[in-house]
Amino acid sequence: MVGKEAVLYEKLPDKKVRCTACARYCEMKEGQIGLCGIRGNEHGKLNLFVYGKVIAGHVDPIEKKPVTHYHPGSKVYSIATTGCNWLCKYCQNYDISQRRKIEGADMTPEQVVQTAVNNGADGIAYTYNEPSIFIEFARDCGVIAHEKNLYNIFVSNGYDTPESVKMMGEFLDSITVDFKGNAEPDFTRKYIGVPDPQPVFDSLLEIRDKTKIHVEITDLVVPQVGDSLEYAEKLCKFVYNEFGPEMPIHFLRFHPDYKMMEFESTPVATLEKHHAIAKKVGLRYAYLGNVPGHPLEHTYCPECNNIVVKRFSFDIEEWHLNEKNQCKFCENQIPIVGKLSKNYKQNRFHFVQ
Ligand code: SF4
Repeated sequence: MVGKEAVLYEKLPDKKVRCTACARYCEMKEGQIGLCGIRGNEHGKLNLFVYGKVIAGHVDPIEKKPVTHYHPGSKVYSIATTGCNWLCKYCQNYDISQRRKIEGADMTPEQVVQTAVNNGADGIAYTYNEPSIFIEFARDCGVIAHEKNLYNIFVSNGYDTPESVKMMGEFLDSITVDFKGNAEPDFTRKYIGVPDPQPVFDSLLEIRDKTKIHVEITDLVVPQVGDSLEYAEKLCKFVYNEFGPEMPIHFLRFHPDYKMMEFESTPVATLEKHHAIAKKVGLRYAYLGNVPGHPLEHTYCPECNNIVVKRFSFDIEEWHLNEKNQCKFCENQIPIVGKLSKNYKQNRFHFVQ
């Protein structure tokens, strides 16, 4: 049998199973495979077919996730499997995420961690496709990663369950939850193939209440169809009300890809309007992403308005925080976890097999 028996599932009568790894909660008869294409019912047990199958492995700066308030400048060994529980028509990684084949290099959790160590990584990112669908493999990697003093981070669509969040709590240190199109329900249905974005909001609350995972929020702003300022404000208010003013939020620029090649890239002015809404709502750390050189890539001290972390794309160019991560100009505490990594100056863009 390829893969390994999953943990997150329930057995049902007549050898059926119900997967609890994501909010789709697929029920499968014997021989059936879930929507993600990588979990299926084999002889009345749910199998994770991609356990130990790594389709992509890169060393990235953590800023690429994007995460800016957790161990800035650190290097992450980023891995993915095939498959995904979302069907995003704009997916930049569609060759991985929408592939419904069990492919990839054979890697045990020990080998994943050793590859990260060999490349001087500070952590492991589970990314490119939705990591909750292969969470049992990620968990086994993550537990060993902790033994080697590496952190674990998910780049997730947040379409999770109480069961998957509970498992995240066993090994995950950080997560960036990626909203798309401001979580506007029509956009979610039409361009993602998901009936309702509500489980993403529910998962965030579950993560807040049941774990100690560092959270950041991302929103991919898609021109014409996923750029509603009304929904952007709703999203920002949710973040402010539930997580407070210090939660980082990143508005990402869409680029045409996959089945949405006829769309333009998001106008920078649209992203700036989103940023203005976040600030109006009271969020102190709002960023633009995929706009290299834009002044809203930087971290500004909300007290004195000086730039405390100056960035260009994924690189850190200037660091004006003291040993306690306080602003060097006014000593305001900036909510960044960890020191500036010694890796921040290295050439971090290379493929690793
Ligand atoms: S992880 Fe896959 S099999 Fe499980 S509920 Fe989600 S889409 Fe279905």
